[in-house]
Amino acid sequence: MSELDDLYSDLIMEHSMCSCNKKSLACANCSAMGKNPNCGDEIKLEFILKDNLIEDMSFGGHGCAISQSSTSIMIDTLRGKTIEEAQDIISIFIKMINREEVSEEEKEKLGNSIAFENISNMPARVKCALLAWHTTRNILNDTLKNNSK
Ligand code: ZN
Repeated sequence: MSELDDLYSDLIMEHSMCSCNKKSLACANCSAMGKNPNCGDEIKLEFILKDNLIEDMSFGGHGCAISQSSTSIMIDTLRGKTIEEAQDIISIFIKMINREEVSEEEKEKLGNSIAFENISNMPARVKCALLAWHTTRNILNDTLKNNSK
């Protein structure tokens, strides 16, 4: 963790040890599994999607501190957003991790997820940090496709 800014690593540790987002949603109407075999991370994401809105999200499963906290912080960031807003935030996050240029305005949209800005200094952890985000992007893409049918 030494390569991460102290403040951010605190946030990451906090979410990895104790997350109120780690639970099952009784009314979930959508769920997805994400796996990162390189590290052994396995997460299950649950969603309550209402029309175009992510009303609630939660996760379960197990994995390293980075995958767990990235999932939890992502949920805090995306909860209450529309699917389009969420997709926008997800692509900004992926851009940031890939060290592409991200504007200040875009960074603001990331909220606490900015904590993972320097994760690319630890290439082995990048897949851990991205797992939940890729999984969510796929499920939202599918949902949009189904909605437009
Ligand atoms: Zn991991």
